[in-house]
Amino acid sequence: QEDVFKKLVAHCKEYGFVFQSSEIYDGLSAVYDYAQLGVELKNNIKKYWWDSMVKLHENVVGIDSAIFMHPTIWKASGHVDAFNDPLIDNKDSKKRYRADVLIEDLMAKFEGKMDKEVEKAKKKFGDNFDEDQFRATNTRVLANKEKMDAVHARFVAALDKNDLAELKQIIVDNEIACPVSGSKNWTDVRQFNLMFSTDMGSTAEGSNKIYLRPETAQGIFVNYLNVQKTGRMKIPFGIAQIGKAFRNEIVARQFIFRMREFEQMELQFFVRPGDEMKWFDAWKKTRMSWHKSLGFGKEKYRFHDHDKLAHYANAATDIEFKFPFGFKEVEGIHSRTDFDLSQHQEFSGKKIQYFDPELNKSYVPYVVETSIGLDRMFLQIMSEAYQEEKIEKEDGKVDERIVLRLPLALAPVKLCVMPLLKKDGLPDKARTILNNLKFDFNCQYDEKDSIGKRYRRQDAIGTPFCVTVDHQSLEDNTVTIRHRDSMAQERVEISKLYDIIEAEVSM
Ligand code: ATP
Repeated sequence: QEDVFKKLVAHCKEYGFVFQSSEIYDGLSAVYDYAQLGVELKNNIKKYWWDSMVKLHENVVGIDSAIFMHPTIWKASGHVDAFNDPLIDNKDSKKRYRADVLIEDLMAKFEGKMDKEVEKAKKKFGDNFDEDQFRATNTRVLANKEKMDAVHARFVAALDKNDLAELKQIIVDNEIACPVSGSKNWTDVRQFNLMFSTDMGSTAEGSNKIYLRPETAQGIFVNYLNVQKTGRMKIPFGIAQIGKAFRNEIVARQFIFRMREFEQMELQFFVRPGDEMKWFDAWKKTRMSWHKSLGFGKEKYRFHDHDKLAHYANAATDIEFKFPFGFKEVEGIHSRTDFDLSQHQEFSGKKIQYFDPELNKSYVPYVVETSIGLDRMFLQIMSEAYQEEKIEKEDGKVDERIVLRLPLALAPVKLCVMPLLKKDGLPDKARTILNNLKFDFNCQYDEKDSIGKRYRRQDAIGTPFCVTVDHQSLEDNTVTIRHRDSMAQERVEISKLYDIIEAEVSM
């Protein structure tokens, strides 16, 4: 699986989806650029999210707030004081780690050991094997589980008390298996603030330290009053936003999974105090079914409820997706109470309240948030779509292809028009078809190499349709259309192309 992931990363570069930022200067760590096809896929994901959240919900509107905001906002939100990660260095390897991630890795190791025992037993007992019973009774599994649960309990307690010495002790006690396996030579754990800062204004006029936003949410909260009033919004209602966020992540890992500059798609949904759990559950359902609608299979998703809640939340869950490197968070759903709006009310001195005509009283609304990483969505979609296939040919030989089975609505290029030959007027005919369709779909034109090679190139970037123009096309205005997934080809009238393609790729 890890191997497939490496191939996917290479594929993203080779075909123009994602490049390392500043590559000719040897790159900038944990920062990436979306290339010519990547930007199309990313835009399609944004549209898919925006349409389902804003267009389809009468009571949700969108905004696009600035990245720079008044510095006091980050005092009020708690980010200046509490947006920290516990950090630890290994003195031998001179490597730096997030203490909590190291401990999570350790727990994953225990799980791995248990899974191995299960696999062994499965092989031995075959069809009669009852996995649940085995996990509940096998002594080696139980011993591992006991150790894992003990580490987990210690970990949660240490995080809860913010006990940095204990975090270090857990790491030392367990000789974490990582590139520094066996080494006990660790520094103390210290807190590290993840916000980037810069100065606004020249020094002459007196500069002001400001932050690059670490989440888009605060841009919504500070616009709550403006939107509610000008949009005449009635509770319950939501404000959605897509935009960049910046976090000085200590350990950047797994390609675009954890970046220092990334993009979020967030909804803040304002509700009556006391109604928040109802809405929390409702949004959990809505968001999970949005993920499942991509068609990757429901077994790829799970909820992970938080043991430890952030300072602003009274309930929190993650939607996790099974990446090639395991189940990981793609979206967080949080019941944020009235924390943010109350804090802004206090720090700004402005009354942030809603008059509820049904209850005939004013209150600070409660908030349910859904926050999804656009880049993690991109990675999820690419890792699911990437497939290496063996194809049996008519002569009995086996051919291979790499195909991106992207959901058709999200594919960066919808069709490629190809003249069979570069002569006899075929390119002109192909260009006429292209010119008719390019206003509706993102199209490519390709006349180089054999048709087989051209098909492979389009498969590798996930193009749903290839349209081939041949001599017969000049006579009867028909072309061959080839479908990416089935590789089936059919002869159709040129005038029908729009309807055929539209029916498959519309969102
Ligand atoms: P993690 O635990 O992975 O650091 P988080 O719980 O801090 O994530 P949130 O603050 O809830 O994340 O942010 C919401 C979403 O934003 C996450 O579910 C994730 O998809 C995305 N996200 C957060 N940090 C990053 C990052 N450094 N790079 C890419 N996406 C990110």
